Amino acid sequence: MAEGTPQPKRVLVLTDVHANLEAFSAVVDDAQQRGGFDVVWSLGDLVGYGPDPSACLDRLRSLPHVAVVGNHDLAAVGKMGLELFNPLAAAAARWSMGQLTQEHRDYLSGLPLTAEQGKFTLVHGSLRDPVVEYLLDEESALATFELLKTPRCLVGHSHVPFLCHRRGPRCVFLRLPEGERIEIGEERVTVNPGSVGQPRDGDPRAGYLLYNAEGDFLVYYRVTYDVEAVQRKMLAAGLPAPLAERLAHGR
Ligand code: ZN
Repeated sequence: MAEGTPQPKRVLVLTDVHANLEAFSAVVDDAQQRGGFDVVWSLGDLVGYGPDPSACLDRLRSLPHVAVVGNHDLAAVGKMGLELFNPLAAAAARWSMGQLTQEHRDYLSGLPLTAEQGKFTLVHGSLRDPVVEYLLDEESALATFELLKTPRCLVGHSHVPFLCHRRGPRCVFLRLPEGERIEIGEERVTVNPGSVGQPRDGDPRAGYLLYNAEGDFLVYYRVTYDVEAVQRKMLAAGLPAPLAERLAHGR
């Protein structure tokens, strides 16, 4: 954010939209009904897996936003090889490549690996390896805390929502309570809002966070969307059927 730009009062924090327009729209609508937001912070992987990469990029770009890049975003613009992708993800990445316009490619290519916004640092995977590492255990969490220059970190990538506190030399991972104020205070934390477009915690609902800057608290929400509509679009596009099926299970 440019110097002199007013700090946002309410932030919609989301990640891993994965070209799922129905889930993305449901999240934006839900956040608007809950008082709205001044800006979206997107933690990467706007595309990949789902049937609407271009429409999801257009939707995000129609909103005030700050975004960092994810591994699927880089793959879709040919800036990352597909060796680390499983065969289904690779097939979806190849399909996504063919859907994007040059303007979309330029947009994704221009996204940074990290972004600092007030007390928060935004990154897709981890600060040690921004688009590759999954921050899911104490060792990876501590490594990111060591590199963190702000009090708080926001990550995505694993599609698993959590709040990780730094407690001296240790880290504690906690589930995000739904619909409750999460007060962070002075503690150093890393938070993952889960995934909008392909949750993997056994709950098929799209997940996101609202950050209230004035009260300095987060609230975590899950929202239902028309999974079957997305599945139909994926199959019609020729995307791998298991990628469509998993949306119903959140796995
Ligand atoms: Zn992802």
